[in-house]
Amino acid sequence: MQISTSKSLFDRAKNFIPGGVNSPVRAFRAVGGDPIFIKRASGAYIYDEDDNSYIEMINSWGPMILGHNHPMIKEAVVKAMENGTSFGAPTAREIEIAELIISMVPSVERVRMVNSGTEATMSAIRVARGYTGRDKFIKMEGHYHGHGDSFLISAGSGAITMGNPDSPGVTKGTAKDTLLAPYNDLEAIETLVAANKGQIAAIILEPVPGNMGLAIPKEGYLQGLRSICDREGIVLIFDEVMTGFRLAKGGAQELFGVTPDMTTLGKIIGGGMPVGAYGGKKEIMDCVSPAGPVYQAGTLSGNPIAMAAGLAMLNHLNEHAEVYTQLNEIGSKLTSGIQDSLNKLGLNYTINHLGSMYSLFFTAKEVFDFESAKHSDTALFGKYFQGMLKRGVYLAPSQFESLFLSTALTDYLIQTIVSAHHDTMKELVG
Ligand code: PMP
Repeated sequence: MQISTSKSLFDRAKNFIPGGVNSPVRAFRAVGGDPIFIKRASGAYIYDEDDNSYIEMINSWGPMILGHNHPMIKEAVVKAMENGTSFGAPTAREIEIAELIISMVPSVERVRMVNSGTEATMSAIRVARGYTGRDKFIKMEGHYHGHGDSFLISAGSGAITMGNPDSPGVTKGTAKDTLLAPYNDLEAIETLVAANKGQIAAIILEPVPGNMGLAIPKEGYLQGLRSICDREGIVLIFDEVMTGFRLAKGGAQELFGVTPDMTTLGKIIGGGMPVGAYGGKKEIMDCVSPAGPVYQAGTLSGNPIAMAAGLAMLNHLNEHAEVYTQLNEIGSKLTSGIQDSLNKLGLNYTINHLGSMYSLFFTAKEVFDFESAKHSDTALFGKYFQGMLKRGVYLAPSQFESLFLSTALTDYLIQTIVSAHHDTMKELVG
């Protein structure tokens, strides 16, 4: 595989962009080697600047649930462009997308559009604080909620990958109001709540975390959080930036039948354009300016092109329930193929899988929280990543990320991925 163009682009980029990339994990630091620079993508494939093609397992970290450059999204964007790219004023399309989101996501009665998942979570915490008049909040170790200061404490995703789960630049004053608990541990939450009685505004979590690799909530865990929040007057926030519109039409909250007070959304909601959103109960969301006193704003929020892409995507998902059956089948076929291959090779590694998300951990132990995720052999993951890339499969360049599958994966492509996995593992440990 020839990657000389990518290599020279990376060398050039490093002179002008910190670390040569606009988001850290893209630099391939955790897996070694230089990143590939992407020229275009279509369906199940992504193409680099040297014209190598790869089967996509990240899909822009989640948004491309129907595969890349879907004609329906492209048409919506091109059509919207004819009327201008930004107005900074209200449009009818914003009402349409708000109505659609409210009809799809159980917890959302009012919704505000923003430009990224980071903005959505930062705003949601501010609103929860404004609504309750309390300062502290609980987050789970290894969960990632974007790069807002108060979330960069034991953060997952790129923060763990780069070895800095706590970032310099976050002041002690900010950090002291973020309380940490291990995921899947209700007792730890009870202890924190008792020690900070009447001071906790919110509990925020990824209901199905993907940012420490994929983990699954234990039976009764999400329900338990719901009960504690009801009892203590705490705002329960599900960060469904990854899981929203992916695990089900209404996200993890629909799948597990637990309705939070607020939800943060991103990725799929913009059909690949930079969009996020936060929403929830009317009485909480009516605290947001100009309905209420909690300030939050955005020049490009509700951007007409982004809304057109998002609407096309959400309308499609809303009208095609079969997408979720298809995604679940793809996820099951792929992970059982990988499990069969591991069995044949006599390897005992852990696969966490739900719908169209999965992670392969290089440990025989169960992975259910941040500590157990850290048992994975990350050096072996780096070699696995390179072996798969060499065989034309593009994985997330970090152990601490979920993979995101799209409906563009045919049976033939699933088989190709499983074969690449088998050959890679055989080369590494066989
Ligand atoms: N929350 C979660 C659960 C995420 O996975 C991410 C990004 N992967 C974010 C928030 C931040 O979103 P963005 O990168 O769009 O700011």
